[in-house]
Amino acid sequence: MIFRRKLTQTLSIFAISTTLVLTACSTNPVSGKKDFSLISKDQEVQMGKQAHQDVLKKQRPYNNTRLQSYVSSIGQQLASKSHRSNIRYTFTVLDDPSVNAFALPGGYVYVTTGLMAYLNSEGELAGVLGHEIGHVTARHGVQQASAGMATSLLVDLIAKKAGSNSKILTQLNSAMLSGYGRKHELEADRLGAEYLAGVGYSPNNMIDVIGVLKAQEVYASRQKGSSGGSYHGVFSSHPSNDQRLQEVVGAAKNIKSAGTRPANRDAYLKQINGLTFRISKDKTGRIVVGNIKTVGLTFEQLAGKSVLNADQLRLLNGRYPDGRLKQGELIKIVK
Ligand SMILES: [Zn+2]
Repeated sequence: MIFRRKLTQTLSIFAISTTLVLTACSTNPVSGKKDFSLISKDQEVQMGKQAHQDVLKKQRPYNNTRLQSYVSSIGQQLASKSHRSNIRYTFTVLDDPSVNAFALPGGYVYVTTGLMAYLNSEGELAGVLGHEIGHVTARHGVQQASAGMATSLLVDLIAKKAGSNSKILTQLNSAMLSGYGRKHELEADRLGAEYLAGVGYSPNNMIDVIGVLKAQEVYASRQKGSSGGSYHGVFSSHPSNDQRLQEVVGAAKNIKSAGTRPANRDAYLKQINGLTFRISKDKTGRIVVGNIKTVGLTFEQLAGKSVLNADQLRLLNGRYPDGRLKQGELIKIVK
């Protein structure tokens, strides 16, 4: 969220400072309809390329080629089934403890180690990547940047005519921008579910991943002094109770290949074994994946082997607030 605001500013400034070519309308790859967008496809790809360099200046990619290519291969499969398979996609795991994922216009998708630690299957990872690809295919970033440019032009124009009432106009400008949030997130969820189904995963993985994020929010709000607010934090109720979300994700179940491929929980956990994990501000540990051998073992007992407490372990394994351990399953702890 914070990132997006900065990005919009960067893009607006970038686009204005280069060429203000008014391409006016271009076709949206998702809807097939004409979009009000001031940015052409070539400009978009160019903007993305430049912004990608900026991201890599500020944030380090995670130093593990095996994990990078694992994430990339899943991302590429999803992108090939998307509405915009004609652009080149780049997937990058960032070495960043915050729980986040984002996309730049032109096909640049990022997921943090912080978020990957909390995911519990390949299907959930695909859900995150599919959602971000959805932002790219529906040109949300471009539309937002365009809206910023357009309204600031509008503000200039009206302010000259209407005198000095620019305060109201500035508010109107920011209202227009922030108004996109819920609508675009829901559309990205719909598209993500579609792409998930396209490569064979169940669209339910999209609901699961939003559940993981919702649990983060609930946990954070129960901790003293923490305000919560996470990546994709736009749901007031739990995702399983959100009717619009259920509808848009449910539609993807009609796609023939939906659910023909398992979520691959164990394969994913093995991939993230050893992943870096921030325990506290100045302490870093690693994810250790192991088998539950003892019958009836509790998260409280498991916490004795980890630096995390029982609730933090539940959260890490997608079992917060009251999930249990099953004998024989793989589970994550942090050491
Ligand atoms: Zn999003």
